[in-house]
Amino acid sequence: MILSHGLSVKRATGDTMIIPIRCWSCGKPIGHQWEQFKERSAKGEDRKKLLDELGLERYCCRAMFLGHVDLIDTVAEFKKF
Ligand SMILES: [Zn+2]
Repeated sequence: MILSHGLSVKRATGDTMIIPIRCWSCGKPIGHQWEQFKERSAKGEDRKKLLDELGLERYCCRAMFLGHVDLIDTVAEFKKF
């Protein structure tokens, strides 16, 4: 799931519940590519090849994708309101 306000769910540890709209380091917009990356890597495609095809050349952007875990659904179960 991609929300338009991705930056607002950044946690104190620096990781996020959803992929950020832009790369933290260089500011390149990356959020719109997450769904495609997630689906295709789940089908077993090579992640290096995927990142190359998506045009993510810098290691800061690549790290955003490789290290990201979608936590928003898990966190939502514990929402109090
Ligand atoms: Zn970057």
